[in-house]
Amino acid sequence: MALRVSLEWLGSCSGCEISFLNMGEELISLLTEHIDIVHAPLLMDHKYLGQTGDAEKLSLPEADVGFVSGGAGNTEHLDILEEMRRKCKVLVAIGTCATHGGIPALMNGQDRRRSWQEIFQTVTTDPGSAVPDIEVPGPLDRVYGCDEKTTIDLLLPGCPPNPSLIREVIMAQVEEREMVLPQRSVCETCPAKREGKGEVAKVRRFLVNARYKSDEELETMRCLLEQGFMCLGPVTLAGCAGTGAPRCIHARVPCRGCYGPVRRGGNQMLDMMNAMASNGIQYKTVVDRRSILRFSGAHGRLRPLKKRE
Ligand code: SF4
Ligand code: SF4
Ligand code: SF4
Repeated sequence: MALRVSLEWLGSCSGCEISFLNMGEELISLLTEHIDIVHAPLLMDHKYLGQTGDAEKLSLPEADVGFVSGGAGNTEHLDILEEMRRKCKVLVAIGTCATHGGIPALMNGQDRRRSWQEIFQTVTTDPGSAVPDIEVPGPLDRVYGCDEKTTIDLLLPGCPPNPSLIREVIMAQVEEREMVLPQRSVCETCPAKREGKGEVAKVRRFLVNARYKSDEELETMRCLLEQGFMCLGPVTLAGCAGTGAPRCIHARVPCRGCYGPVRRGGNQMLDMMNAMASNGIQYKTVVDRRSILRFSGAHGRLRPLKKRE
């Protein structure tokens, strides 16, 4: 019998669903041989409140594996997440927004009330209007990772996860075996040349190109951190390019940390400070340390700064 697969999105950009589609021909063989997609807002018409929209309760179909992308930032997200938990035997948080807050959780670094006033109620929108609380779902106090709000069986980070990782999760269920997912850091899969610690005392922003020869292999480029750029490879989970070189490094650009911390519960900012200190780099030279949490601001990591009186 085909594995019933359900996809759902919360505060999501749909990039994770696009990555699902990016399995390409592999998806066709999955669909013809192994899976049956029972719900996917990006692909098919299935309403939360029945096809005519007049059901009283939100309802989703039952599934063997449910993928939920995006963080939880409003009350509707919570309802959907709870319904997915009820209806899916295995619930997978897919993408860094769902596992660590991702880009929507950047909002956690701001004072929520002040943001509403300064962003949504300015003279260019609707001065003095009230924050809506009917017809649109009310906002939560911050953006949450899915596992902060319900039990999640598997966290599959990535912005978005590589299609091969999504396929591996599905095939492990189909074949009833352990899945093989990345455990190492971006650095451990990076071919850039490392020459040793201690030469760089400061990091700088990526405002000029790294030093490399475009006609030479990546292996001849010196590690970007050793070139003085803020590369988050040491504190970021690998897997963005499947088994190849990390995507940004391949483009000669520092890793921005989009797969979140290497280990569940890791703190990319503290881990990076430690990595820099052990390499003799002054962490005070990082222009905005909190930006290291740009993909992992849920779980209380990113909080509003206390305003100086
Ligand atoms: S993890 Fe990235 S691709 Fe997926 S929903 Fe979030 S921002 Fe989009
Ligand atoms: S710091 Fe960046 S460039 Fe250097 S090895 Fe790690 S991932 Fe590669
Ligand atoms: S190199 Fe880093 S930022 Fe770039 S895609 Fe991979 S994990 Fe994401």
